[in-house]
Amino acid sequence: MRKVTVLGATGSIGQSTLDVIRRHPGRFSVYALTASSRVEEMAALCREFQPRFAVMANEQAAHALSAVLGDRGATEVLAGESGLCEVAGADDVDTVMAAIVGAAGLPPTLAAVRAGKRVLLANKEALVMSGQLFMDAVAASGSELLPIDSEHNAIFQCLPPAQVRDLPGAGVRRILLTASGGPFRTHSQEELATVTPAQACAHPNWSMGQKISVDSATLMNKGLELIEACWLFNTRPEQVEVHIHPESIIHSMVDYVDGSVLAQLGSPDMRTPIANGLAWPDRIDAGVPSLDLFALGRFHFERPDLARFPCLRLASEAFSAGGTAPAVLNAANEVAVDAFLKRKIRFIDIPSVIEDTLSRVAGGPADSFDTIFEKDREARAVAAEYLVRC
Ligand code: NAD
Ligand code: MG
Repeated sequence: MRKVTVLGATGSIGQSTLDVIRRHPGRFSVYALTASSRVEEMAALCREFQPRFAVMANEQAAHALSAVLGDRGATEVLAGESGLCEVAGADDVDTVMAAIVGAAGLPPTLAAVRAGKRVLLANKEALVMSGQLFMDAVAASGSELLPIDSEHNAIFQCLPPAQVRDLPGAGVRRILLTASGGPFRTHSQEELATVTPAQACAHPNWSMGQKISVDSATLMNKGLELIEACWLFNTRPEQVEVHIHPESIIHSMVDYVDGSVLAQLGSPDMRTPIANGLAWPDRIDAGVPSLDLFALGRFHFERPDLARFPCLRLASEAFSAGGTAPAVLNAANEVAVDAFLKRKIRFIDIPSVIEDTLSRVAGGPADSFDTIFEKDREARAVAAEYLVRC
């Protein structure tokens, strides 16, 4: 029986995770659930899964949850970052689903890594921000890091398990990272200037949280994933080629020196990579129906257009610059996406906020997590200044 903590239980990935867990009551039990502020949803999850702990992002939400649950339940309610880190690293936990969105997920994800847990990584921002330090922490503790992002999970499935971080040894020529292209794939530059948050969040293939939906629309999601792939598979951006594949059925591919290309296919449903990570190396029912290739008929591929979608280029450049640049990129992107969702800036201003912030915040070595958190704060302040000037 695996005991699981789900960080970000009320989110899109959290709900898909609990859906898979619900199908296998003899295999998984829930140790802790965490959420930001949705008290009623969290209360319903606590009643169903009876976790030992529930963590809310702040004291106010934690009090509200305690009041709703009353004192008869089996669940103890905690609050804030210390509570998140406690349930991520607790002795009784074996598996942690890291599905908080954004930089807020880094401290608890790191706590799980440092405690040597099996970490199911959905929260790509945590790895993008802290790259080498994060991977060093994984190596030091012996934590089992399994990618949940559908592309990285696909690549992971197409590689020999012992050579996931030794691509030359495995005979890999390239990684082919697929991308849907998002809802604005065929929009002109002029059309992009007037798109709304609602249009950006209406992804053609995937149902996801708001932040990653906007990231998919700007292609920043693919930029973050390029960086994520470099860290997870110990490779360079030159070895990773982004392929726009609007059907989102091939979740990524690995091109080997003998000319073989291995791909992982499936419906665009995150329960597949989640079930793969939860049960690895076993296979379990994820509740996902079989692919009907006859109904699909055709697959298409295009090159990404970096002129209309500069975020992909900005991410690649930030990774090449190294040090704290990816943390600055990530922080500026979070500020810009939030401002776009609140209709303070236009869609096409998002890359401008990021480029301006990268040019103003001095780079430097990412020599400690404190440095990363400090740069994250500084970049948010600089990006917020740009918004005032927008
Ligand atoms: P979401 O917005 O639906 O859910 C986010 C979760 O994080 C919620 O439970 C929320 O309560 C919690 N949260 C937000 N801010 C918090 C804070 N400050 N402190 C504590 N908790 C907080 O997002 P999502 O779509 O589920 O994505 C989660 C992560 O998984 C992101 O990093 C995303 O990039 C990644 N991811 C998502 C998908 C997908 O299909 N949704 C696919 C691949 C990767
Ligand atoms: Mg993805």
